[in-house]
Amino acid sequence: MSLPGAAAVRVPPFPDDAFSRVLCVVAHPDDVEYGTSSAVAAWTARGIDVSYLLLSRGEAGMDACPPDRTRELRTREQLRAAEAVGVSEVVFLDHPDGVLEYGLGLRRDIARVIRGSRPDAVLIGSWDVEFAAGLNQADHRVAGLAALDAVRDAGNRWVFPELLDEGLEPHAARWLLVGGDPRPTHGVDVSGEPLERGIASLEAHGEYLAGIPGHPPPRLMITGITALQGRAMGVPHAVLLRAFDFSAPPPIALEAMAAASSA
Ligand SMILES: [Zn+2]
Repeated sequence: MSLPGAAAVRVPPFPDDAFSRVLCVVAHPDDVEYGTSSAVAAWTARGIDVSYLLLSRGEAGMDACPPDRTRELRTREQLRAAEAVGVSEVVFLDHPDGVLEYGLGLRRDIARVIRGSRPDAVLIGSWDVEFAAGLNQADHRVAGLAALDAVRDAGNRWVFPELLDEGLEPHAARWLLVGGDPRPTHGVDVSGEPLERGIASLEAHGEYLAGIPGHPPPRLMITGITALQGRAMGVPHAVLLRAFDFSAPPPIALEAMAAASSA
């Protein structure tokens, strides 16, 4: 029986030493800035190295602005956004915005960056059709799925052997972290300074956001998103993530072993 007022089950923080190097992989400039960048600010403040990989430059994102100008504008704004939260490096791949295609070429390009940067955690967005914020966008679904597969590709010597010819040895990241998943396993407390820096990182996309009718002010939006997520951790502001630990056996394997020993 649960008692009135008993504390709800809370989403735990990551262990302090869970990872020291994170690569965030997203489709467009601004994708990291809807909450996740506050977690990035919390990590970089603790000395964790964070880099970004953008699969496109978001050149199809502004109706009133031709792609060539938008590409330059959004690249510039993304670099400022990354700087606001202490990101060490930003890589752009120049796949086409709006028509991003899942395929071996995209997986190879992401795997190449993973092998070069050698993160112990790769942070991606949800690849599901429906995610925490509603219906997911096509490029976001492609980016999430391609990045998930590229994490495994990067660790397999015999997949994309041409990367070996480029001097890129296999690299197995330990963690896959997924933002926007409705089944979070861990949270990052971003109350205080990380939240402020996260707000500044979305504000860095000022010219782009000005072209979106009715977009709420970044301060209001990021404060609200992280306040909602904070409830699950019991802190004022948080970012929730679903974490897959590739070094741990999948739960079904443990269950199967238990079943075998009691059979
Ligand atoms: Zn996007």
